[in-house]
Amino acid sequence: MAKVHNYSAGPCILPQEVIKEAADAVLNFDGLDLSLLEISHRSSNFVSVVEEATFLVKELLEVPEGYSVCFMQGGASLGFLISAFNMIGDHKKSAYINTGTWSDKAIKEAHFVGDVEVVASSKESNFNHIPKGFDIPTDVDYLHYTSNNTIFGTQFKEIPSTSVPLVCDMSSDIFSKKVDISKFDLIYAGAQKNMGPAGATLYIVKDEVFKRNRIKIPTMLNIETHVKKESMFNTPPVFSIYVSMLNLRHLKSIGGVEAQQKINEEKASLLYAEIDRNPLFKGVAATEDRSTMNVTFVLTDESKQAKFDELWKAANISGIKGHRSVGGYRASMYNALPVSSVQVLVDVMKALESA
Ligand SMILES: *Cc1c(COP(=O)(O)O)cnc(C)c1O
Repeated sequence: MAKVHNYSAGPCILPQEVIKEAADAVLNFDGLDLSLLEISHRSSNFVSVVEEATFLVKELLEVPEGYSVCFMQGGASLGFLISAFNMIGDHKKSAYINTGTWSDKAIKEAHFVGDVEVVASSKESNFNHIPKGFDIPTDVDYLHYTSNNTIFGTQFKEIPSTSVPLVCDMSSDIFSKKVDISKFDLIYAGAQKNMGPAGATLYIVKDEVFKRNRIKIPTMLNIETHVKKESMFNTPPVFSIYVSMLNLRHLKSIGGVEAQQKINEEKASLLYAEIDRNPLFKGVAATEDRSTMNVTFVLTDESKQAKFDELWKAANISGIKGHRSVGGYRASMYNALPVSSVQVLVDVMKALESA
């Protein structure tokens, strides 16, 4: 089989060795002659998987003392509501930065639990940049933002500075670069962009959050329920957690987040350099806000589209069609995408000039 260069925006590329190991465990897990998929989640074999996954998250992200890590379900989309439920307090009001479709959806959910003030938005320019220089009120229970905007290809280069508790949807750039976890009260991320297969949602929460004056939270939406039971309050998404654990082991083996960050920066400079050099292409996101994970770009000459599509398909590139709300192309370069795949895309872009 020819190698496919997988630029899927999510679920996304995972390391081949991780997929292979996962396949083995589906057939025979831990030498039990049973599939990972047919054993009790409370068996000691699986309990150690959850423990290792939790430990690896803490180790790789350098999660400080006073924080807990757990895996829940519902994806980041339920995380929008869960974060609001768990963070709303005496002010009955929250602040949101609207930087795209996912922030927009988070804002919608926050309205179920309190008042929402959108303190900044780039909606009027189809989210092509990260808003800057806005004020954040102090009479809110928390500020929420989306660190990387998967659809529009923008990314916060700095953590917003604020005195109110900070909440972040880190779905599409967690484990891609170093972050100072101590700046946050709550982080959540769907597994399927940089951690593993869809199913699990990662929560990193400051324990202080549970001690605040909070509203009544339904059991399954209360992060404390899942933290107290070490992600085993009910049956967890076993496959997603297992493969995430394998992928985190893999990340550790290549040198951790810092080593991965260098690779991600190399991929991003390679592709953005070609977008800027090649007169046939133009980047969508404001230069200073460009995402290292999702690169959005368009052709400057629409008549070249058929030729470009033919060339990248022939090069075994998959998944670069842009999201319908942006158009053009989107190259998602999550952790497992090798630099060599980016070189293939760059070569195709060069080839278009002489085609
Ligand atoms: C993909 C994505 C989501 C949605 O995740 P689900 O797990 O499908 O609910 C939310 N936020 C961001 C930033 C995303 O990239």
